[in-house]
Amino acid sequence: MFSVKDLKFGKDAIPTVSQRAMEIHHDKLYAGYVNKRNEIEEALKTVDRSKSAATYSSYRALKLEETFTANGQILHELYFDTLTPKPSQPSDSLEFVKKVKEDFGSWEAFIEDVIACAMAARGWAITSYDYRDGKIHNFLADAHNHGGVWETWPVWTIDVYEHAYFIDFGSDRKSYLLDIIKYADWEEINRRYLIAKEIEKILKKT
Ligand code: FE
Repeated sequence: MFSVKDLKFGKDAIPTVSQRAMEIHHDKLYAGYVNKRNEIEEALKTVDRSKSAATYSSYRALKLEETFTANGQILHELYFDTLTPKPSQPSDSLEFVKKVKEDFGSWEAFIEDVIACAMAARGWAITSYDYRDGKIHNFLADAHNHGGVWETWPVWTIDVYEHAYFIDFGSDRKSYLLDIIKYADWEEINRRYLIAKEIEKILKKT
């Protein structure tokens, strides 16, 4: 059983997202993914596995939507967890900031790529650390379960589905991006980057 994670701030705390938009996003859409994931897990206990087929089968439908709901849950938790109502300039002392400057040449070049990635995506822009080349990458996903790169560690995501900005910004996605980035929780993003570095150490030992 998976549970709906509470927001770490009030639903009216991020000035760039209205309370109504946040309520719909967290309480209905995100919670919906968690609840449907639980429903799918329940249905998988009794589904007829003998009829499993790639053209159509109940088992396939459940397994496919399991990836959609699971990633819908995970990406939204990461999106909400990396927002803060108290915006701050990313500090040069953060390891994540140092790494980004190393990989992208400058902080501005990194943000430019994040925005380009979020403008090009139909679902998500996901900043991840890739253990294979030891670099930060911005990936896009057109749906929760279309895109994403295995065995990279996501440190930051931006939801670019229309539901994330249409209520407050209409079709002006660029303004939503420029605003939402101001409320990025750089301390939390840095903490997730440090976790990635720890996982990398474990992977290198094995
Ligand atoms: Fe969303």
